[in-house]
Amino acid sequence: MTTLRTMLDERVHEAAPELCEIIEGTRLRCYACGHRCPIPEGQPGVCKVRYNRGGKLYVPWGYVGGVQCDPIEKKPFFHAYPGALAYSFGMLGCDLHCAYCQNWVTSQALRDPQALSPPMEADPAELVQDAVRLGARVLVSTYNEPLITAEWAKAIFQEAQNAGLITGFVSNGNGTPQVLEFLRPWIDLYKVDLKSFDDRHYRQLGGRLQPILETIRSLHGMGLWLEIVTLLIPGFNDSDSELQGLSGFLASVSPDIPWHVTAFHGDYKMTDPRNTQPKDLLRAAEIGRRAGLRYIYAGNLPGRVGRLEDTLCAHCGASLIQRMGYQIGSYRITPEGKCPACATPVPGRWASQFSPQITSYPFLPHRSSGLVTIAHRR
Ligand code: SF4
Repeated sequence: MTTLRTMLDERVHEAAPELCEIIEGTRLRCYACGHRCPIPEGQPGVCKVRYNRGGKLYVPWGYVGGVQCDPIEKKPFFHAYPGALAYSFGMLGCDLHCAYCQNWVTSQALRDPQALSPPMEADPAELVQDAVRLGARVLVSTYNEPLITAEWAKAIFQEAQNAGLITGFVSNGNGTPQVLEFLRPWIDLYKVDLKSFDDRHYRQLGGRLQPILETIRSLHGMGLWLEIVTLLIPGFNDSDSELQGLSGFLASVSPDIPWHVTAFHGDYKMTDPRNTQPKDLLRAAEIGRRAGLRYIYAGNLPGRVGRLEDTLCAHCGASLIQRMGYQIGSYRITPEGKCPACATPVPGRWASQFSPQITSYPFLPHRSSGLVTIAHRR
């Protein structure tokens, strides 16, 4: 039986020319993420899924590491098509190696032998048909870092747009101008996981802060709908000064960017910090509010954070969307995307009509989708 490495090496495509440059001879540079790896012949980049064979850059193609139907609130997007079903897919691999990754079975599959997520054969048109059949309004690349598999996402998103679907990335934001320009025509929504505001912390995770900040500014400048998540980890990224810096930066890009502060629980290799408590999220939210952010949400502790799960009008305070976890209790935004009480526009992407949620819980579509697991050994 074939190994995971061999199986993935057989499912590749040549990189988009915009995301690859010849440095010298057969040596290449990849621009799919902020690492901008120089890659010698026969070697992979830091992500281990893009590699140089014979002076050409090959990239993942033709499989998914996971597919799931999620409420869009789980991504989380709170200001984009509330209640929509988000058909979510991922591949394998990541350019970072966060010790607390909650998707480590897919993101670390090439680094960690304990990470087992059997890939499945996939075709862009079939994935889109499956999404439409299940009633999805949105198609999202997630579970691993989608920037490192940008060509595959683009192929699927082209099909998705032809079918009238909205498309999105759930990403660590370690981008480059080249990859953002490459994706720009095909992507509507972008969630960036801003993990810290301290470059030393980012280096522990295998990245740098600056490319992520530049990506956030660029995405907003491009007009994509952008939301930010920060997983609040006690003792790692939750000091007042770090949160002031982080939320102040976001407010300087736009006070209308929704900021989700979410609760940590021990996962993967990071089990020492205590779990985040409601009071930690409330403190972070207050810091964000003082920095000028207008839409702040507290996640992962449903029913324990007061009104920080709800969307309120930033002008008059009227309740616009009530939530409990991923479930929507009420929806009052007008078809024009305004507050019904004072007519203040609410930033976001709103449907002209609210459709009741298909689900407020994730579910797997595999059995009915026709996706076939690819047999392999580690
Ligand atoms: S995607 Fe990032 S980590 Fe992977 S080869 Fe390209 S620059 Fe390197």
